[in-house]
Amino acid sequence: MQQIMMIAVVKILHLKKSLFIFTRMKITFFSTKPFDKEFFIKGNANFGFEFTFFETHLGPHIVQAVEPTDAICVFVNDKVNKQVIEVLAEKGVKVIALRCAGFNNVDLEAAKANNIHVCRVPAYSPEAVAEHALAMILTLNRKTHKAYNRVREQNFALHGLLGFTMKGKTVGVIGTGHIGAEFCKIMQGMGCHVIAYDVKQNASLIEKGIEYLPLEDVLKQSDIVSLHCPLMPQTHHLINSTTLAIMKKGAMLINTSRGGLIDTEAVIEALKEQHLGYLGIDVYEQEEKIFFRDLSENIIADDTLQLLMSFPNVLVTAHQAFFTREALEQITQVTLNNINQLLLNKVPETEGAVMV
Ligand code: NAD
Repeated sequence: MQQIMMIAVVKILHLKKSLFIFTRMKITFFSTKPFDKEFFIKGNANFGFEFTFFETHLGPHIVQAVEPTDAICVFVNDKVNKQVIEVLAEKGVKVIALRCAGFNNVDLEAAKANNIHVCRVPAYSPEAVAEHALAMILTLNRKTHKAYNRVREQNFALHGLLGFTMKGKTVGVIGTGHIGAEFCKIMQGMGCHVIAYDVKQNASLIEKGIEYLPLEDVLKQSDIVSLHCPLMPQTHHLINSTTLAIMKKGAMLINTSRGGLIDTEAVIEALKEQHLGYLGIDVYEQEEKIFFRDLSENIIADDTLQLLMSFPNVLVTAHQAFFTREALEQITQVTLNNINQLLLNKVPETEGAVMV
């Protein structure tokens, strides 16, 4: 009797195990970096998904090679257009999960037409991005990058390092969502006068003394302009020759949002004419083939970026504003939870996560 019961228990366990294997959901990752693997493998302990990691970007060039999978997980430079989505649908993809906040690289209409959910991480660590914007401002202003190199060469002279006091300066914030709101508070903490433009005003910021003005007035009055709105057809080349001309002579422009917000050629002209005083960009319109890679042994064929990097008053960082430990942990948890809930036909609890 005991032996029969033992066999029954073993059989049930075996069945449970095979059911578990059978129901393991597959996620295929694109544009994977070592830190993505590290954080997602750690975060998967709570979910038990089966992962496939690809270093390559997702795009029309690779989509046919994708093995059947339940979900795909993409980043800022993956190209998820109609053509890609139609092939993904054929491969059984039910969820496209962006492990970032922006979603300008996914054709939402095509996803909807193919019954594929699109989700993102709306606010993983707005502080991380806002703090990076501050780091860029202080670097451009106080030239700590130059001071660091100079002192290492025993050059203790101060010429060329002259900055300006932040207190009392006017800072214009374009887009006061999660990141823009954090940035407003940081700049107020520095003693700056903060003005803002957004299509939707944030009442709690008004209470804190942030003044909303029309875009033109924000550009006209600001010593520093920082972009925190999403890239959409309405915001594409928001900063162009016309809006640059409105800006104060010698002002600083910071973009940690998306490269397409800025017409790069127009910005180069404004820098050459010494109308724009400083430029700090963490994002670049043509970043797709360059950022997130070590190209130190290569010739970079992008003359526009090379020219920009040669200006002494330009600082380029390679889309690293989000890159803090806390942000990566949050991205991992929210992304896996979004996928899990959507595959179970439930609504993820993270507000604003589901786009389609
Ligand atoms: P969010 O959605 O919380 O806020 C965006 C704000 O922009 C909203 O208040 C919205 O009303 C406003 N807006 C929309 N259209 C506008 C327009 N035409 N003019 C002015 N404002 C407009 O987004 P968020 O979390 O604050 O992120 C902002 C952007 O930052 C994202 O879209 C993303 O592209 C970028 N981002 C960059 C990094 C990085 O590492 N560099 C990381 C995260 C996010």
